[in-house]
This record gives sequence, structure tokens and C-alpha cells, in this order.
Amino acid sequence: MHRILIIDDSKLIAHLAKNILSKRGHEVLLAGDGKTGLDIAKDNKPDLILLDLILPGIDGYEVCRRIKNNSTTADIPIIMLTSKAEHADKVQGLEMGASDYVTKPFDEGELIARVNTHLRIKVLHESLQEKNRQLFEMANRDGLTGLYNHRYFQETLFNDFQRAIRYKESLSCIMFDIDHFKKFNDTYGHQTGDVILKALGKLIEKLMRRSDLAARYGGEEFALILYHTTINNAVITAERLRKSIEKHKFKSEDLILNVTISMGVASYYHPDIQDAKTLIECADKALYKAKKEGRNKVVAF
Ligand code: GH3
Ligand code: MG
Ligand code: MG
Repeated sequence: MHRILIIDDSKLIAHLAKNILSKRGHEVLLAGDGKTGLDIAKDNKPDLILLDLILPGIDGYEVCRRIKNNSTTADIPIIMLTSKAEHADKVQGLEMGASDYVTKPFDEGELIARVNTHLRIKVLHESLQEKNRQLFEMANRDGLTGLYNHRYFQETLFNDFQRAIRYKESLSCIMFDIDHFKKFNDTYGHQTGDVILKALGKLIEKLMRRSDLAARYGGEEFALILYHTTINNAVITAERLRKSIEKHKFKSEDLILNVTISMGVASYYHPDIQDAKTLIECADKALYKAKKEGRNKVVAF
């Protein structure tokens, strides 16, 4: 069953079409003028619209243009209803984004066939969009942890840094790395190491603000972007994350395991940091210092 909106000022035509479509199990909404049609389209997101071109007030061409220019309704297919008696220009309607037309008085079989065709295209279009979304996720996510990957992190930080400069916003970057992870793998096995990485990714996502960004930067190294966050607040966040991870009981089969992390924090604004690359390098330097100073700690650049 689909939801179909009929915009036509002729009650006779509208009810005729409604009967035909209702019989096929579709839900039919009616609008007698362009303004009402636009409102219903926006509020009810029909799967398809049958649109009369000659309407009182806002005419069908304008209705079509507005539906196609509004991102919430742009993907709804429109079939124009044109009558031989009226001088409606089908080409103009098609140029404005209508998918097809039916001439009134319409034949029941033809109306159904055209409606079904465009509903089918819409379903295909939606599944293609979903596939594209999945591809985008696969291209930008790390397979093990589900966090964003290195490339996405770099690209995003580059863009976000430009914006931070332009709008004079603060922006922080945290790099962190699991302590003695090589020894961990040697002791418990690489598989258990993977379980930890995966669980750590989940934990980080849970602990961070939804608007911030977490990425797996490399093997056992992670990178975070904190928006509108000064160095002092970034250090507070880092310390909170460090403590949570230190306390967390990671479970793998019947083992309960602990890991610690070392963290480096760098922020814009800082006189030495004028681009995204330097921001990462400075966070990395701070991380190196945290390692040298004994690990399981946060160091600010
Ligand atoms: P440090 O405290 O100085 O960071 O010591 P570390 O042992 O963690 O650092 P090192 O760079 O010597 O070793 C990193 C280890 O991380 C070695 C590598 O096997 C492990 N590692 C990297 N990627 C993965 C992964 O995807 N899965 C698992 N299980 N281990 C990984
Ligand atoms: Mg009319
Ligand atoms: Mg390490």
C-alpha cells in the first residue's frame, strides 16, 4: 500500500481517481487547490502525487516547481493530469520535474499502470539511496571498531579547522594510544586484542558527545575531534575518558581484562597551531610525552 495525493480542483476527476486507487489498496489524500496540496505534501510525505496543471490560485506548474525545490518533497514522483480541453503544456511540466502525465478523461488501466511504474521506480530509487549510504559508511568507517577511519578523520579535521579559523571557534584534538598493547597481545593473543579494540571503540562512542567525532587513527591509536572545546575543557574530557577506560572491565570469554591509555591533547587557538596537520602533530607530541612520563596519563601540548 502506498500513499497517493491527488491535487485537482475538479471533484469529479479527484473522486474518480480516488476510487480507482483506493480499490488497489492505496491510501488517497485529496487537495482541491495548489496551496492545500503543497501543505499536505510537506506534512504527509505521499509516495506519489497526481497533479492537475490548471488549478485556481497557484497553478500546477508552480506547485510542481515548489515540490521539486523542497528537499523534503523533491523525491516524490509527480504525474500530471492534463485534459484535452485545457491548454496545458506537458513539456513545461516535465521540465519542472514531473515524471509523467495522464490525459483526462483517463482510462483506469492506464492510470494504474503509470502509477505503478512510478511507485516501482521510487522504491528502487530509495533502495539505491540506502545502498549508497551503506557504501559511504563502508568507505569511511573502520571495519573492526566501527569508528571513523584515518582518511575520514583527516578530511574532516581539515575542513573543520578551516571553519574554526573563519568563525574563530575553538577546536580540540585528542590522540590516544593503548599502553603496552604489544605485551597484551603477546599475553592474551591477537584475537583477544581485537576484542579489546572493538569494545574500546564502543566505550569511547558511548562516553563522547554525539556531536564530537571519534576515529581509529591506526592500529591501537585513536583520534578524537572536540568541537567548540578549549584546551582546558579538552583536558577535562580526556581525563574523564582515561579514568573510565582504566576502570572498565573488558570481557573476553571468561577473562576480565584491563587496559590503560595515554593521551595527548592539542587545541586551536594556539599560536603554534595554524593548520590541521600541525594540530595532529602537536597532539601526537603530547601523547609521546605522556608515554615518556610513565603512561596512563593525559598531557596537554
Ligand atoms: P606503548 O605503551 O608504547 O604504546 O606500547 P605498545 O606495545 O602499545 O606499542 P607498540 O607500538 O610497540 O605496539 C603496538 C601494538 O599494537 C603492536 C600490535 O600488535 C598491536 N596492534 C596494532 N593493531 C592491532 C590490531 O588491529 N589488533 C590487535 N590485536 N593488535 C594490534
Ligand atoms: Mg483544473
Ligand atoms: Mg600502544
